[in-house]
Amino acid sequence: MKKQKVVKKPKVKEVKVEKTVAEPVKKVMATPQALRGMKDILPAEQPFWLFVADKARALAKAYSFEKIETPVLEEAGLFIRSVGKETDIVEKEMYVFEDLDGAKIALRPEATASIVRAYLNHGMWNLPQPVRLWYQGPMFRHERPQSGRYRQFFQLGFEILGDTNPVADALLILMASNLYKELGINTSIQLNSIGCPTCREVYKTELVNHYKAHRSKVCESCKKRMQRNPLRLLDCKEEQCQTVKKDIPQILDFLCDPCRKHFMSVLEYLEELGIPYFLNNTLVRGLDYYNRTVFEIYSVGDDGAAQSALGGGGRYDYLAETLGGRATPACGFALGLERTASKVKEINPALAEKKKIDIFIAQLGDLARRKAMVLFENFRKAGVKVAEDFCRTGLRAQLEIADKLGARYTLIVGQKELQDGTVIIRDMESGVQEIIDFNKAVADLQKKLFLNAS
Ligand code: AMP
Repeated sequence: MKKQKVVKKPKVKEVKVEKTVAEPVKKVMATPQALRGMKDILPAEQPFWLFVADKARALAKAYSFEKIETPVLEEAGLFIRSVGKETDIVEKEMYVFEDLDGAKIALRPEATASIVRAYLNHGMWNLPQPVRLWYQGPMFRHERPQSGRYRQFFQLGFEILGDTNPVADALLILMASNLYKELGINTSIQLNSIGCPTCREVYKTELVNHYKAHRSKVCESCKKRMQRNPLRLLDCKEEQCQTVKKDIPQILDFLCDPCRKHFMSVLEYLEELGIPYFLNNTLVRGLDYYNRTVFEIYSVGDDGAAQSALGGGGRYDYLAETLGGRATPACGFALGLERTASKVKEINPALAEKKKIDIFIAQLGDLARRKAMVLFENFRKAGVKVAEDFCRTGLRAQLEIADKLGARYTLIVGQKELQDGTVIIRDMESGVQEIIDFNKAVADLQKKLFLNAS
């Protein structure tokens, strides 16, 4: 027989540590804080976020959307060209810096531009069209922080690329509506069409004429918007501008035939599907790349009044061309995870309650802990809902945890059981204990749990 090589445990040299007198702390260092507008999403919040993400993932699967992840950092030019130089996002809110190579980099303020870039970079037009993609990730905007508004926030979104058909717009609105229904959130959908570059130009002229006639009554920002970005006049929330805004020409009256037909068709789909919507003639979305259908979803309070925007989207048929690619009609929708998860928490706080477990494994002493760890792995691999707290030593403390977790049984491995090759089972309801064979523990407990369940 071959002699087995005995591997000796290396001797650990004892190092004598000189006792030193602790020096008095000279200066108390301030602990760094998270940046303004950035927040930690702590474990207590995670169940609500996961609930939203799981529902969204299931919907993405049901409607055949494939996941895509794009980098958080992009060339700043990508957003300047797509979102628009004169939008709030690019002009005031984008995090831009020069990297070590001197390139002008931006932290993405939104994901649609990146996804269109990826679509073009990877020749996705060669795939069967349309290409349906979804994403989830952090976005960055240097906005004034307030409740529900952060400088790093998460969006989850769906994009349909390579399809001009109004059914794509309706499908996205249907998905958004379904998602919020499944999350238990009451919403209202607001909808508008901002036409195509041709008919929008006619509307813009009319709009500016209307504002020119009332120039003295509007705020300074609106005076600038009249020249630089007239559609943004409709976004103005200033009190003094509201009377002028109330009487604006209706954009829907200016749509060209193809744009009107497209919009009517979206509305017909929504009516057929029984999705209620409100037409909002001042809804334009603050990004330059949108055309035709634009929409936003608001949460609705018990009084039926619309609260904050949870998400929004629309068509962006010209974005691919703006980025130097081939014409690719497309549309998309993004929701804010912070606002959605916080709504879920408000409605369904019970989601944070810990799920009950079947088995808790307790141990007494170092050697027992090793065996208990093996036992835990066996249960876990067998698919049993099992928990432990191996960092604790006292039995009482471990039983308290088992109780808190709602364990049906606690298995106790002590010194004696270790020698006997057994384990104690404690019924957590009756407190009755029995001893079983260590090696049969998984099978015995599975049987017990099955009998309890039936
Ligand atoms: P937008 O495309 O800008 O309308 O953003 C879509 C959604 O993302 C919004 O409806 C919000 O729910 C969310 N969102 C946008 N900006 C922020 C922000 N600064 N903080 C938190 N959520 C935001």
